[in-house]
Amino acid sequence: MKLRQIKLRRPFPSASKPLIKEEQVISGELTDNGEIVELVDTHGNYVGSALLAQQNKGIGWWLTKNRVDDFPSYLQTHLAQAIQARQHYFADHLTTAFRLVNGEGDHLPSLTIDWYDHYLVVSLYSKSIAAYERMLCNQLNELLDIKGIVVKRRYEDLQSLSSEWVFGQEAPEPLIILENGVKYATYLNDGWMTGIFLDQREVRQQIMEHYAMGKEVLNLFSYTGAFSVSAAMGGALRTTSVDAANRSRELTEEQFAVNGLNPADQSIYVFDVFKFFNYARNKGMTFDLIISDPPSFARTKKRVFNVIKDYPEIIRQSVSLLNPNGYLIVSTNASNWSSRQFDYMIEETLSQLTTAFEVVESFELPADFKTPEDSTTSKYLKVRVIQISDKL
Ligand code: SAH
Repeated sequence: MKLRQIKLRRPFPSASKPLIKEEQVISGELTDNGEIVELVDTHGNYVGSALLAQQNKGIGWWLTKNRVDDFPSYLQTHLAQAIQARQHYFADHLTTAFRLVNGEGDHLPSLTIDWYDHYLVVSLYSKSIAAYERMLCNQLNELLDIKGIVVKRRYEDLQSLSSEWVFGQEAPEPLIILENGVKYATYLNDGWMTGIFLDQREVRQQIMEHYAMGKEVLNLFSYTGAFSVSAAMGGALRTTSVDAANRSRELTEEQFAVNGLNPADQSIYVFDVFKFFNYARNKGMTFDLIISDPPSFARTKKRVFNVIKDYPEIIRQSVSLLNPNGYLIVSTNASNWSSRQFDYMIEETLSQLTTAFEVVESFELPADFKTPEDSTTSKYLKVRVIQISDKL
């Protein structure tokens, strides 16, 4: 098949920087229907193949240096490779949910696929990849033993939210998945989220195995309380979960209950975290481990939360509620905030307080969230475990 050519100026996209910016295009019509094109330089020399897709940051993605004249077989090859690369996850019977395809990390830009115990959550981040939805589902069904597929069309805006079962049977609600032997209740067709963020698996495991035993644990921005559950399963004295969303209470209670833990032994507050800081101080509450995993941006009734602006205050307030030699676990998924900047913010904030501190462990994305080498923006997750020592 003869592909259309798009003429580009440098710097040419690559595996680590696949996004094609509009200002790089010298000539060639741009489309949004899943068209694969050949990229050429000003002399007409072949540079690579690309998937055209208009979205907020660019007009398409570089796929490969090789020629792609048949997208169905390109898709099949890379799905098979992605599955192959996750064989040890499939073999681990204590963990039944993980990421199967992570966009450009698996050479399939604007597509993520998560495995939830034989159900698949397919997220489509461009109209172009959505053009292959049916083909994708059929190929997945040939490659894997699947019970059902739910598709989230995330190129649409939040208002026209679309999540739909398109294949097989619907998963039960909740669907109980296992992660390192701990159960989590998930809802696969509930907006864009599922009740668990799979990219925090290693953090939950480490909390359970190393940081929770005998501790008073505070979990800020707790959502469905997944960190609280891992702490409670790891022997925490008690967990306190704080989230502004009304629904967080019943979802968090459910996460405890499915693990045979009595929710009444734990504390759950439906509070804005800044309100909780005041409340906790007035009540004289203190904690041994404070976990904080805020969203990058959120609008609540009272305020607009911006993680880069507000994190220093979260850290200062957390330290003021910490028992001697306590730990903070601070996390962010803001892709526009580099590791270096995040570490700098932590240092700046803590060095202004009269405490000594040491970063004792760091986490990035786990291996199933495969990212292109050298790509810093796609390695969005940054988690630091910090021990705060006695006042200097
Ligand atoms: N830590 C969670 C994920 C957090 S998602 C986990 O590991 O599963 C972000 C959560 O922050 C959402 O549930 C949202 O309701 C909550 N949130 C946003 N702004 C908030 C605020 N100002 N105070 C408390 N919770 C807030």
